[in-house]
Amino acid sequence: MQRTISTDVLVVGGGTAGFGAAYAAASQGARVRLVEGTSKIGGVMAFCPGMPWGGGFPIGRSIGGVFDTLTSMLCTMQPPLAEIRPSTLENFGAEVIYDHEAAVFAMFQMLEDVGVDIHLNTFAGSPLLLGHRIIGVDCYDRTGPLTIEPAMVIDCSGDGDISAKAGVPFALGDGRGNMMGVTLSFSMLGARWEQVFASDDPYFTKEATRGIAEGRLHPDLAKLYLMRGFHRDTVFCNSVHIRGVDGTDPQQVTKATQEGRRRCRQLAKFLIDCVPGFEQARMSELGPTIGVRETRKLEAVHRILARDLAAATKFADGIVCCDNPIDDVMRSDAAMTHHAIVAQGNYYTIPFQAMVPREIENLLFAGRLVCADPAAFASVRGMPQCMAMGEAAGIAATIAHDRRLTVQALDPAEIVAALSVRGVRGLGGEALSDYAPALER
Ligand SMILES: Cc1cc2nc3c(=O)[nH]c(=O)nc-3n(C[C@H](O)[C@H](O)[C@H](O)COP(=O)(O)OP(=O)(O)OC[C@H]3O[C@@H](n4cnc5c(N)ncnc54)[C@H](O)[C@@H]3O)c2cc1C
Repeated sequence: MQRTISTDVLVVGGGTAGFGAAYAAASQGARVRLVEGTSKIGGVMAFCPGMPWGGGFPIGRSIGGVFDTLTSMLCTMQPPLAEIRPSTLENFGAEVIYDHEAAVFAMFQMLEDVGVDIHLNTFAGSPLLLGHRIIGVDCYDRTGPLTIEPAMVIDCSGDGDISAKAGVPFALGDGRGNMMGVTLSFSMLGARWEQVFASDDPYFTKEATRGIAEGRLHPDLAKLYLMRGFHRDTVFCNSVHIRGVDGTDPQQVTKATQEGRRRCRQLAKFLIDCVPGFEQARMSELGPTIGVRETRKLEAVHRILARDLAAATKFADGIVCCDNPIDDVMRSDAAMTHHAIVAQGNYYTIPFQAMVPREIENLLFAGRLVCADPAAFASVRGMPQCMAMGEAAGIAATIAHDRRLTVQALDPAEIVAALSVRGVRGLGGEALSDYAPALER
């Protein structure tokens, strides 16, 4: 039986960007439906359980907004289920480490509290267009087809299927089809931190070199990124990267996930056998699928360029601050980099117009499908920034719907002002440094 429902705002994808978008739009009074293909809110965050939220504290100050609300909620629980700490990686500032299940629960709860209608296990298949507007999105869940008729659509799917099918031009990866490596993560429980982290090399290069030389580790494991998890004596392993996988191709994702499992099991055994402190540890929280960093980047009114970020540009339509390094991971045959993009002590903002398509009048997008050149993308893609991009898109969609405006006709200054009212910091000419350091909370 064909089902049809209508909504003010349809958010496609319930990752960190979709969470921010749905929360913001619903808390501004819009009727919001969020469609998520899997069984969990979080996206990459749910596929890589325990991955820290990095980039939320440019020059040591919180970006504010929905990221702050969520972080504060977890940090002030009794007992606290998140904490803010310095990253062990070069050129990254502070990050939030959290109890994964508590964070996913809190995000769902926040969405429920503002009245978002959440459809898990529901896949958005294709848009129905009338001129330059999306008048329906054909979805599918276990009971069959479901058409959602939205006034506004926010594509937060990471891969941009709906936008691409609606005719929004895009670049795959770096424009030549080279996408960053994908990763399968896991944790080790019962690892003795004092021993594991006795040396200050965050990449365990000595041990990795030995493992590769002995044929026990894949050659792409020359740097093992192992970090303290939220709970004592847990270690989060964000190390197994697989090159050349197109995250929009389900078969490639399937194969890469099994290959990732093989390499993760190999690595866990190596840690137990060869790295002091892991003798009594065991593997846990192996990701249900690979985490995909990069696929389609949609074409927008404004393309974010690395040279503008390097100049610490604060765009007039900037919607969130950022000082993340160029976090590039194994595109084609390249290595991993964490080079700073902006001078230490400075930051840039991400412009709203990088989430606005040129033609479709009721579509916005947010998160890792933002319009950016490859180096800029490698900097802007952190989860706090994805939440904030979503928040800005949610506000903008609500304004467009209330006033019957096209997204191209929106006044960015109004969106920036609304974000500032919601506690997003450092926008509209105000320096981020005017605010109290986040680490003193
Ligand atoms: C391995 C890895 C490590 C990373 N490390 C860090 C880190 O340490 N710190 C940090 O801050 N950032 C990190 N990042 C970057 C960050 O996680 C991502 O950029 C961010 O999570 C992207 O969020 P998103 O919401 O845009 O997309 P996603 O998280 O990809 O979410 C998209 C969601 O949309 C759903 N979806 C897709 N298509 C459809 C459809 N057609 N219908 C319905 N649902 C759909 C998906 O199931 C998914 O839940 C990492 C990324 C990866 C992959």
